[in-house]
Amino acid sequence: MNLRSPIKHCRNCGAAVVYRLPDDGDTHERAVCPACDTIHYENPLNVVGTVPWLGDRVLLCKRNIEPRWGKWTLPAGFMELGETTAEGAARETHEEAGAQIELEGLFTVLSVPRVGQVHLFYRARLLSDVFDPGFETIEARLFTEAEIPWEEIAFRTVKETLERFFADRARGQFGVHALDIV
Ligand SMILES: [Zn+2]
Repeated sequence: MNLRSPIKHCRNCGAAVVYRLPDDGDTHERAVCPACDTIHYENPLNVVGTVPWLGDRVLLCKRNIEPRWGKWTLPAGFMELGETTAEGAARETHEEAGAQIELEGLFTVLSVPRVGQVHLFYRARLLSDVFDPGFETIEARLFTEAEIPWEEIAFRTVKETLERFFADRARGQFGVHALDIV
């Protein structure tokens, strides 16, 4: 199963690579360079985001980018090198929603092996109900649980996170939820 486009050329010397088991006892096929012996490792990517809340409402962003253009999502995106998961979640919230937040605890950790990703969402208390969405977002607005457009949610990880957020909120205690999306 190819999760991403296969590597074609060596990152070190530019020669064409071959996919095979490396000679070091590795159990996964890797893109190995026959010219300089560089082994290219491909591992899951982290997606980091927040559940920004204000009173009984949660902030969602309407996507202005593919995939799932026009669907609603929590602010989230790929973690960058050099930042922590919390820093990445806060950055994405700022970039996509222009929201002022105080980051709270880790809330969900969702493995999505089919696409080679791990999604992490933090709870985040909104300090204002004024938003300034970036180019990736058509509209950012607050929803009560009853107003959530459940059929228009962009990603399963977002839907699972929202369901658990409102369930935990109803019982007055927030846990940390580890889930596998298979
Ligand atoms: Zn090479």
